[in-house]
Amino acid sequence: MESTLKKLQIAYPRLSFKPGTQFCWSPEAHEINYQASASGPKAVWSLLHETGHALLEHASYQADFQLIKLEVAAWEKAKELAAAIGVVINEDHIQDCLDTYRDWLYKRSICPTCRTKCLQQNDYAHYRCFNCHTSWRVTPSRFCRAYRSTKNVRQPATFRLAT
Ligand SMILES: [Zn+2]
Ligand SMILES: [Zn+2]
Repeated sequence: MESTLKKLQIAYPRLSFKPGTQFCWSPEAHEINYQASASGPKAVWSLLHETGHALLEHASYQADFQLIKLEVAAWEKAKELAAAIGVVINEDHIQDCLDTYRDWLYKRSICPTCRTKCLQQNDYAHYRCFNCHTSWRVTPSRFCRAYRSTKNVRQPATFRLAT
């Protein structure tokens, strides 16, 4: 990953890369965080993916249903970046990441009371059940994803019932 990081820093001097606990694009800080301890191809792919978000200037506070499109776009950009430096991103890995993202979004949308799949409200912070009228708060949509190598490692976003 070190050499990829160097290449990206040289190619995109305007982007700031900071070591952190996970791979993440932070639109607020305008920073790409990378897990400094990570190594291997998946770390390189994650770094390219987050750089994709940065180059596409993806902003936070999107509706959940739009996020998957941005994730796909970030992977498309990552593939371009990868091709330019002679790296090939495994297509199964991309699909696995997108599936995980879809699972995460799906779990956010399930009513904690009656398990009905519901719609996110316009404030992007709440879901409301049209069946039982429960309203619940979700954490802001983020581009931060824990680096993981196996499926089903990540827990769903924590729900807090809104009163
Ligand atoms: Zn992403
Ligand atoms: Zn419900």
